[in-house]
Amino acid sequence: MARYAMKFGGTSVGSPEAIAQVVEIIRRFIAEGHELAVIVSAMSGVTDMLLDCAAAAANGDRESFLAISDVLRAKHTGVIDALIAGEDDRSVIGGEVDELVGSCLELCEAITILGEVTPRISDALASFGERLSSRVIAAVLRAQATSVTQLDSDAYIITDNQYGDADPIWPETEARIVGGLGAALGAGVTPIITGFFGATPDGAITTLGRGGSDFAAAIFAAYLDCDELIIWTDVDGVMTTDPRLDERARVLPYVSYQEIGELAFYGAKVLHPKTVQPIINRGIPLRVRNTFNPDHSGTSVGARTQPSATVIKAITGIRDVSMLTVSGRGMLGVPGIAGRTFLASAGAGANILMISQSSSEQSFCFTVIDPMARAVKQAVEAELQREIQHRHVDSVDLLSDIVIITVVGSGMRGTPGVAGRVFSLLGEHRINVLAIAQGSSECSISFIVAESDLERAVRELHNLALETVENDRITAVGSPY
Ligand code: ADP
Ligand code: ASP
Ligand code: MG
Repeated sequence: MARYAMKFGGTSVGSPEAIAQVVEIIRRFIAEGHELAVIVSAMSGVTDMLLDCAAAAANGDRESFLAISDVLRAKHTGVIDALIAGEDDRSVIGGEVDELVGSCLELCEAITILGEVTPRISDALASFGERLSSRVIAAVLRAQATSVTQLDSDAYIITDNQYGDADPIWPETEARIVGGLGAALGAGVTPIITGFFGATPDGAITTLGRGGSDFAAAIFAAYLDCDELIIWTDVDGVMTTDPRLDERARVLPYVSYQEIGELAFYGAKVLHPKTVQPIINRGIPLRVRNTFNPDHSGTSVGARTQPSATVIKAITGIRDVSMLTVSGRGMLGVPGIAGRTFLASAGAGANILMISQSSSEQSFCFTVIDPMARAVKQAVEAELQREIQHRHVDSVDLLSDIVIITVVGSGMRGTPGVAGRVFSLLGEHRINVLAIAQGSSECSISFIVAESDLERAVRELHNLALETVENDRITAVGSPY
């Protein structure tokens, strides 16, 4: 018998058929004698719909948010009608859905009165997707005589007040989960818990960032001391690249915590970038599996770094980023310019994705997401006003229509020539590299190319990762993965 935390993503709970599959997986694990904590996302598309409602409400467009709320209600009642037979059971959960959709509408009315969507009210509204899906899924399981209890995560995940991207306050979160949930699991009741959101200590709802249900699940896995965290999604596992960028993408049987951290940070949507944070020190293994192909063993993620013959395991790409370059001959030897630039960027609310400096110290560049770029440029120019006046700094230039591409593989640590191989390959295909950075972990190399080169660059570099998978498959015969 083992204890699992398992999370089902948006597509996995996105239709009656998908939810039937989820229910089968849960019932199978319980029948095998395991203890489970189940964390669920909103049905696919629902979080976006809620955010669209908020935007419509801010514009005073009542007709639009009413129309979207009708779609929301129909999506959930469709599941109830398809999967719950008993009239009484249906009307109980149908009533709950009506009530929740009613609360969404009240929030929309409040937004209309305010005339704007504050981050706080946006998070409150966005949390309704998970509130709805978890209740419907719990009702379906209950109708099949499975002993479950539906729980809202704001009672357990306590966070700071960084709305839209909140971080847990760890000791408080640990106390709530250990004290409030540990016993229920032991008593053979399966909690069906909302992912995605928590609350501040004074009870305001906060979300953990888009895709944050993975992170929520990892938090529960850590404090429930689970034997494994399973992320059930719509692909067979973590792949050598985004299958939408290159259809030849193959499933990686094993990646390390560090590798998955880099992959997620640099754009592999398959996991929220903070997912490994709560489990890494506890050594809780993570497995990414496919809800729609449950016989596939998926990708396992753990502490061990696996040596690979050809080193590069996966390629990611991030679109919609801009690069800022601070340059000037007079910068040489003037201390603090980089530090002040990054502080000014942080002050503008930007998260820096990649930094690179030329060895002559005459320029350095860094990358932020597009929507932040103009504000960051203004903030940096204001901060460096004196240096610009005195011509120590010539300019702060902004370049858009670029992408960050990252090659990941922990085997590149101590393997000379990997960067050389990557850049000669790009050179051979006449792909111009605008800036390069290697993570200090030596587990990834990131670089910037024009957006128009994205697919070509990924496909060419992907050949290196496909080689690795093939070599590992050959050397791994008889090994545990
Ligand atoms: P969920 O709703 O289950 O959380 P997501 O849509 O957030 O699922 O993440 C799964 C998707 O991530 C896949 O369908 C795939 O298109 C995309 N993806 C991007 N990069 C990768 C990768 N390297 N490996 C696997 N999937 C990836
Ligand atoms: N429903 C949330 C989102 O769409 C969280 C998640 O699915 O992980 O971002
Ligand atoms: Mg996701």
